[in-house]
Amino acid sequence: MPDFESPLREMAMTMLRLCDVDVHGKRVFIRADLNVPQDDAGRITDDTRIRASLAAIRDALARGAAVMVTSHLGRPVEGKLTDADTLAPIATRLGELLGREVRLIRDWVDGGPWHASLASGDLVLLENCRVNPGEKKDSAELAQRMAHLCDVYCNDAFGTAHRAEATTHAMARYAPLACAGPLLAAELDALGKALDRPRRPLMAIVAGAKVSTKITILRALAAKVDTLIVGGGIANTFILAAGGRIGKSLAEPDLAGEAKAILDMYPGKVPVPVDAVCAQRFAADAPAEAKAIGDIGPDDMILDIGPRTTAALEALVARAGTIVWNGPVGVFEFDAFAEGTKRLALAVAASPAFSIAGGGDTLAAIAKFGVTERIGYISTGGGAFLEFLEGRKLPAVEVLEERGREAAARPPTGESP
Ligand code: ADP
Ligand code: MG
Repeated sequence: MPDFESPLREMAMTMLRLCDVDVHGKRVFIRADLNVPQDDAGRITDDTRIRASLAAIRDALARGAAVMVTSHLGRPVEGKLTDADTLAPIATRLGELLGREVRLIRDWVDGGPWHASLASGDLVLLENCRVNPGEKKDSAELAQRMAHLCDVYCNDAFGTAHRAEATTHAMARYAPLACAGPLLAAELDALGKALDRPRRPLMAIVAGAKVSTKITILRALAAKVDTLIVGGGIANTFILAAGGRIGKSLAEPDLAGEAKAILDMYPGKVPVPVDAVCAQRFAADAPAEAKAIGDIGPDDMILDIGPRTTAALEALVARAGTIVWNGPVGVFEFDAFAEGTKRLALAVAASPAFSIAGGGDTLAAIAKFGVTERIGYISTGGGAFLEFLEGRKLPAVEVLEERGREAAARPPTGESP
């Protein structure tokens, strides 16, 4: 059974943080997550990730570091930088946000004149790190070359913390000093608060469309939480497991056995929906009808939780001490099937519980219903957030812990820069 407790407690103690490192006069390499969505013309459509990355950059610059920042963008082919892959639009946006010009460096792995002249207070952006051959394979050789560029390696990219790549993992091993940036640290703190030291009752909501990938999360969370709410395609699989009918609804019947095992192992912990909003087709204009689960016919498609299920969910949310939420409980993109998710979002916002939400569509739903500011913590890392919930160790975090333990074990020396 995955265990959240010991790794988190240990992590909090051993991981070095950027704020604790004396960076004055040092070359600091920040692996950020600047992987923003762009339109066909390359224009940035949402700069949240760039703004979230400013804290680390500003802090290092303010304390007199020479700062290099890199990120991946999209899924480029290694060894080939195309117009679609360039960080140029990000350099421009970063420059606007910081009020200074941000130079973009190509072919940076082995340094060069740009590196030799890097001075305290300078900032450069290093081109898309996923273009470098060996990045995705976590190449030790590439990592060593990159590590030569810096005195301090700082990982602030929670969104890619679940991937062992050269800039997220191996580089942390070879850099003279490796630490976590403020964004990465904040994510881990918030997740720790929710899952390691939760105020009870601890409630998890797992919904959305990706049934098979989320069943592992359910198994891990079921052991941990006081109440596990299922919605979306996952709820449909649980309805099947409980002997109900779901018509043409999205579900994974193969996983009903797995769902049944969870229901049997934790009686009363996983309430199965009692009603649903159904339609005959998956369309925005399909007529919607609320039905008790027992009345669902062979042509029905469950597209939202029903009013009775929603009311029960609201009551649970109001009483919760901690809420972890991933996945919209209905097809919130269609107004006729958005009510369950909307009421859930408002209930979470109004609840005195500490709440944490993550997942691309979950955050879109929360934003759509205007409650982003009233959620305790919004996790920016889609895949990493989900893997954390699964109880998996994040490789990028693990290596920082290792380095932190090594640093703590070394006797203090009269270190000179
Ligand atoms: P996240 O990105 O937050 O992890 P997912 O990608 O797993 O969430 O799921 C989000 C999608 O699930 C939404 O686009 C929503 O329309 C869909 N969804 C929710 N409930 C249902 C349902 N009952 N049937 C089909 N799709 C659903
Ligand atoms: Mg999604």
